[in-house]
Amino acid sequence: DLLEAFNDLARPDVNELLREIYIQPDGITLFTHWVPLNVDGVRQGIVAVFHDISDLKKAENMRRDFVANVSHELRTPVTIIKGYAETLLDGALESDPVRALRFVEIISSHSERLTNLINDILTLSSLETKEAILELNPIDVSGTIAKACMLLQERAVQKHISIFNESTGGALPRVMADQGRLEQVVVNLLENAIKYTPDGGRVRLFTEDDGECVRVSVADSGIGIPFKDLPRIFERFYRVDEARTREQGGTGLGLAIVKHIVQLHGGNVSVTSEPGQGSVFSFTLKKA
Ligand code: ADP
Repeated sequence: DLLEAFNDLARPDVNELLREIYIQPDGITLFTHWVPLNVDGVRQGIVAVFHDISDLKKAENMRRDFVANVSHELRTPVTIIKGYAETLLDGALESDPVRALRFVEIISSHSERLTNLINDILTLSSLETKEAILELNPIDVSGTIAKACMLLQERAVQKHISIFNESTGGALPRVMADQGRLEQVVVNLLENAIKYTPDGGRVRLFTEDDGECVRVSVADSGIGIPFKDLPRIFERFYRVDEARTREQGGTGLGLAIVKHIVQLHGGNVSVTSEPGQGSVFSFTLKKA
């Protein structure tokens, strides 16, 4: 690319050159601006300005991928809803009431999936645009953990999963956090722990004093996550087993939301897992 720019600039009719150059293997994108330096009509040299726009390019690509992924995710439920509604209208509604009921149930479950997906996308976008309005207050995390356990108790009971809340209540220092957002983090992690743990399993929630931070962990005895997938697990729409997790009604955005909220608070997220044994998801929050 650089050679090409030099050659183009050698042409007498070229007075200025703007060019994007991609450098492999470093994955650097440069925006370059070239101007020949002429003295008395004789070319003496070239002035070139290079701007490193790699980060900008990366952000642009991520946005493009996200839009493509969202469209892809929306298409499946919409196609299913449309297909079954048409079958009903074409006569199944009257000719086969038993199947008709099944079709309506399918339409309903996929509408719910659409709603969840749109809610998660809106949450992510509000986290990105309204960073400034985290309502930070000194909070007792064990209260938030207790609330999340209560909210998801019913779902755990349905799967015969026992939830053990082992967070050390009063002894733990308060953290600076946005109550609503923190609740969402714990709920998302607990929801996953229940979702990816087979019937009869166990989920533990515990807290630790970690110097400047408090660490909150959600541990399950579930299906676990293969080592190779761990680095990507917090990416938007990344799922370990596409077919299985989609069937569970997941949007693939839960952990991306968790990571985003924790990082907005200045904390970090981590995960350890053993396939077949279970997973431990942890996050830290700064003490108040
Ligand atoms: P989803 O809506 O699909 O659950 P998430 O972003 O919450 O999306 O999680 C991403 C993927 O990480 C899931 O699809 C699943 O494969 C895996 N995962 C998340 N939590 C757990 C867990 N506790 N145990 C096993 N796998 C998990």
